[in-house]
Amino acid sequence: DQARTESSLMVRYCADFEAQYTRRITIITALKEALVTGSELSLVYQPKLHMSSLSITHVEALLRWNSVSLGFVPPDEFIAVAEQSGLIKDVTHWVINRAISDVQAMKQQGVNVCVAINLAASDILNDDLLPMIIDKSMQAGLTNENLAFEITESDLVADHQLAIQQLSRYREAGYSLAIDDFGTGYSSMAYLKNLPVTDLKIDKSFVLKLANNESDQQIVQTIIGLAHSFGLQVIAEGVEDKASLALLNHWKCEYAQGYFISRPAPLNEIIVWIQKYKDLPWSD
Ligand code: C2E
Ligand code: MG
Ligand code: MG
Ligand code: MG
Repeated sequence: DQARTESSLMVRYCADFEAQYTRRITIITALKEALVTGSELSLVYQPKLHMSSLSITHVEALLRWNSVSLGFVPPDEFIAVAEQSGLIKDVTHWVINRAISDVQAMKQQGVNVCVAINLAASDILNDDLLPMIIDKSMQAGLTNENLAFEITESDLVADHQLAIQQLSRYREAGYSLAIDDFGTGYSSMAYLKNLPVTDLKIDKSFVLKLANNESDQQIVQTIIGLAHSFGLQVIAEGVEDKASLALLNHWKCEYAQGYFISRPAPLNEIIVWIQKYKDLPWSD
């Protein structure tokens, strides 16, 4: 009986494994194609509210893939596959090129903001990336205040010394850097002290239910205090209600981002949203 259970578990394990494997291969093939044509990929932008001035000076670029064959594929899924397969290099190139031309378009319409781009661990290790970014953004007439970068905390923990060295080059080029998903990556104080970053983004898992959860409130307050003591600015992601926004404002969190303020939106919509926002200051 036990043997039978084990063998049926084995069959199921193999079937799951095969399904996952097939899905991965399908994604790689379709994503390669999408990177060539470019027509299935797009960027959406989500604003970050600067709380003390109630202004929108920063947005984050988020990649979307609407595949003809696979439908909508969530970025968490295809970015992970791209990282494992080495396709991430081409994905990042695509994102940077599109983000730069979008910032140019925003500026032409009088919207001068800083666009944060998410980078993967391997992007940071790629020595060709930063010179390419500097070159393209100069050609497009951007300043180093028009672009910033976000790197997930867990990606930075792996090779600490090398990460510090590479990130310093971005800082020397004048770009702001944020640690993304902070609170989920087990970094220590010693580690934080040496990281050349300017901002810390509190992971949305601590923010989504902030107003109703006391332990999240303690965690978030602690992270804000820690960040400020290191001279870092704080961004809270995943703000979904007014009560959470009020708490973050009370604790002097510099920026808030989340569905309560705005969902990520395509370029043209976000330009209009920001222009309107300027005329309608944040209020009740
Ligand atoms: P992230 O950089 O931490 O981005 C925040 C995610 O939370 C985004 O999911 C955003 O749409 C979502 N979000 C924002 N506000 C709220 C809210 O109020 N409630 C909830 N429930 N969610 C909210 P998205 O767009 O699905 O992206 C997921 C992750 O995929 C990103 O996490 C980032 O790690 C990665 N990603 C997205 N675009 C890129 C990219 O261009 N390059 C790289 N390397 N990674 C990317
Ligand atoms: Mg991010
Ligand atoms: Mg996050
Ligand atoms: Mg993330």
